[in-house]
Amino acid sequence: MDIRIGNGYDVHALAEGLTLTLGGVRIPFEKGCVAHSDGDVLIHALCDALLGALALGDIGRHFPDSDEQYRGIDSRILLRKVREMIAERGYRISNADCTLLLQKPKIAPYIDEMRKCLASDLGVEIGRIAVKATTTEHLGYEGRGEGISAMATVLLTGE
Ligand code: MG
Repeated sequence: MDIRIGNGYDVHALAEGLTLTLGGVRIPFEKGCVAHSDGDVLIHALCDALLGALALGDIGRHFPDSDEQYRGIDSRILLRKVREMIAERGYRISNADCTLLLQKPKIAPYIDEMRKCLASDLGVEIGRIAVKATTTEHLGYEGRGEGISAMATVLLTGE
Protein backbone atom coordinates (compact mmCIF):
# COMPACT_ATOMS: atom_id res chain seq x y z
CA MET A 1 0.00 0.00 0.00
CA ASP A 2 1.22 3.49 -0.89
CA ILE A 3 0.70 6.11 1.82
CA ARG A 4 0.88 9.82 1.01
CA ILE A 5 0.82 12.81 3.36
CA GLY A 6 0.10 16.40 2.35
CA ASN A 7 0.01 19.76 4.04
CA GLY A 8 -1.70 22.99 3.04
CA TYR A 9 -1.68 26.56 4.28
CA ASP A 10 -3.67 29.62 3.24
CA VAL A 11 -4.31 33.19 4.37
CA HIS A 12 -6.96 35.71 3.42
CA ALA A 13 -7.39 39.31 4.51
CA LEU A 14 -10.66 40.30 6.17
CA ALA A 15 -12.71 43.31 5.11
CA GLU A 16 -15.97 44.85 6.24
CA GLY A 17 -19.18 44.05 4.40
CA LEU A 18 -18.07 40.76 2.79
CA THR A 19 -19.61 37.37 3.55
CA LEU A 20 -17.59 34.94 5.64
CA THR A 21 -17.61 31.31 4.47
CA LEU A 22 -15.42 28.79 6.27
CA GLY A 23 -15.44 25.06 5.63
CA GLY A 24 -18.42 25.55 3.33
CA VAL A 25 -20.51 27.21 6.08
CA ARG A 26 -21.75 30.82 5.98
CA ILE A 27 -20.90 32.44 9.30
CA PRO A 28 -22.59 35.65 10.44
CA PHE A 29 -19.88 38.27 11.00
CA GLU A 30 -19.29 41.90 10.08
CA LYS A 31 -16.24 40.98 7.97
CA GLY A 32 -15.49 38.43 5.26
CA CYS A 33 -12.45 37.19 3.34
CA VAL A 34 -11.13 39.27 0.44
CA ALA A 35 -10.69 36.88 -2.49
CA HIS A 36 -11.28 36.12 -6.15
CA SER A 37 -13.31 33.05 -5.09
CA ASP A 38 -15.66 32.93 -2.08
CA GLY A 39 -12.50 33.16 0.08
CA ASP A 40 -13.00 29.93 1.98
CA VAL A 41 -9.53 29.83 3.47
CA LEU A 42 -10.14 26.47 5.17
CA ILE A 43 -11.14 24.71 1.95
CA HIS A 44 -8.21 26.30 0.13
CA ALA A 45 -5.73 24.91 2.68
CA LEU A 46 -7.44 21.52 2.45
CA CYS A 47 -7.26 21.51 -1.38
CA ASP A 48 -3.55 22.35 -1.22
CA ALA A 49 -2.95 19.51 1.26
CA LEU A 50 -4.75 17.03 -1.01
CA LEU A 51 -2.89 18.24 -4.12
CA GLY A 52 0.39 18.27 -2.22
CA ALA A 53 0.02 14.65 -1.15
CA LEU A 54 0.13 13.59 -4.80
CA ALA A 55 2.60 16.29 -5.90
CA LEU A 56 -0.03 17.80 -8.19
CA GLY A 57 0.94 21.42 -7.62
CA ASP A 58 -1.30 23.86 -5.81
CA ILE A 59 -4.76 25.37 -5.97
CA GLY A 60 -3.49 28.45 -7.81
CA ARG A 61 -2.17 26.27 -10.62
CA HIS A 62 -5.42 24.36 -11.11
CA PHE A 63 -7.84 27.25 -10.47
CA PRO A 64 -5.96 30.49 -11.26
CA ASP A 65 -7.36 33.70 -9.75
CA SER A 66 -6.75 35.37 -13.12
CA ASP A 67 -9.44 33.13 -14.63
CA GLU A 68 -12.88 34.75 -14.75
CA GLN A 69 -14.65 31.38 -14.46
CA TYR A 70 -13.50 31.19 -10.83
CA ARG A 71 -14.73 34.67 -9.79
CA GLY A 72 -16.84 34.30 -6.65
CA ILE A 73 -16.87 30.51 -7.06
CA ASP A 74 -18.08 28.31 -4.22
CA SER A 75 -14.85 26.69 -2.99
CA ARG A 76 -16.76 23.44 -2.37
CA ILE A 77 -16.86 23.03 -6.15
CA LEU A 78 -13.05 23.27 -6.20
CA LEU A 79 -12.78 20.74 -3.37
CA ARG A 80 -14.97 18.26 -5.27
CA LYS A 81 -12.79 18.72 -8.37
CA VAL A 82 -9.68 17.99 -6.28
CA ARG A 83 -11.39 14.88 -4.89
CA GLU A 84 -11.94 13.69 -8.48
CA MET A 85 -8.25 14.19 -9.31
CA ILE A 86 -7.32 12.03 -6.33
CA ALA A 87 -9.82 9.29 -7.16
CA GLU A 88 -8.69 9.25 -10.80
CA ARG A 89 -5.18 8.41 -9.59
CA GLY A 90 -6.41 5.52 -7.45
CA TYR A 91 -6.05 7.13 -4.03
CA ARG A 92 -8.55 7.49 -1.20
CA ILE A 93 -8.63 9.91 1.69
CA SER A 94 -7.79 8.31 5.00
CA ASN A 95 -8.23 11.47 7.06
CA ALA A 96 -7.89 15.23 7.08
CA ASP A 97 -7.02 17.46 10.04
CA CYS A 98 -7.63 21.19 9.62
CA THR A 99 -6.95 24.19 11.88
CA LEU A 100 -8.34 27.71 11.56
CA LEU A 101 -6.43 30.60 13.16
CA LEU A 102 -8.60 33.60 13.89
CA GLN A 103 -9.47 35.87 16.76
CA LYS A 104 -13.16 36.37 15.95
CA PRO A 105 -15.89 35.21 15.48
CA LYS A 106 -16.30 32.17 17.72
CA ILE A 107 -16.19 29.12 15.47
CA ALA A 108 -17.18 26.33 17.87
CA PRO A 109 -20.93 26.40 16.99
CA TYR A 110 -20.11 25.81 13.29
CA ILE A 111 -17.41 23.13 13.53
CA ASP A 112 -19.64 20.09 13.09
CA GLU A 113 -21.48 21.65 10.16
CA MET A 114 -18.11 22.34 8.50
CA ARG A 115 -17.00 18.74 9.08
CA LYS A 116 -20.26 17.53 7.54
CA CYS A 117 -19.77 19.70 4.42
CA LEU A 118 -16.15 18.66 3.95
CA ALA A 119 -16.87 14.96 4.56
CA SER A 120 -19.72 15.08 2.05
CA ASP A 121 -17.58 16.78 -0.62
CA LEU A 122 -14.74 14.32 -0.06
CA GLY A 123 -17.01 11.26 0.07
CA VAL A 124 -15.80 10.07 3.47
CA GLU A 125 -17.45 9.58 6.85
CA ILE A 126 -17.42 12.57 9.16
CA GLY A 127 -15.14 10.78 11.65
CA ARG A 128 -12.29 11.12 9.15
CA ILE A 129 -12.48 14.93 9.05
CA ALA A 130 -11.28 17.12 11.91
CA VAL A 131 -11.74 20.88 12.07
CA LYS A 132 -10.17 22.80 14.92
CA ALA A 133 -9.91 26.51 15.64
CA THR A 134 -7.58 28.59 17.73
CA THR A 135 -7.09 32.26 18.43
CA THR A 136 -3.59 33.68 18.36
CA GLU A 137 -4.05 35.42 21.73
CA HIS A 138 -4.46 38.78 19.94
CA LEU A 139 -0.99 38.40 18.36
CA GLY A 140 -0.27 39.01 14.68
CA TYR A 141 -2.70 39.73 11.83
CA GLU A 142 -5.13 37.01 12.90
CA GLY A 143 -5.11 38.39 16.42
CA ARG A 144 -5.81 41.93 15.20
CA GLY A 145 -8.71 40.69 13.07
CA GLU A 146 -6.96 41.67 9.83
CA GLY A 147 -6.99 38.19 8.38
CA ILE A 148 -7.67 34.49 8.85
CA SER A 149 -5.24 31.66 8.20
CA ALA A 150 -5.79 27.93 7.91
CA MET A 151 -3.64 24.81 7.90
CA ALA A 152 -4.54 21.29 6.80
CA THR A 153 -2.86 17.90 6.85
CA VAL A 154 -4.19 14.91 4.93
CA LEU A 155 -3.31 11.24 4.58
CA LEU A 156 -4.09 9.39 1.36
CA THR A 157 -3.81 5.69 0.69
CA GLY A 158 -3.41 4.03 -2.69
CA GLU A 159 -2.76 0.58 -4.08
MG1 MG B 1 -7.07 31.14 -0.77
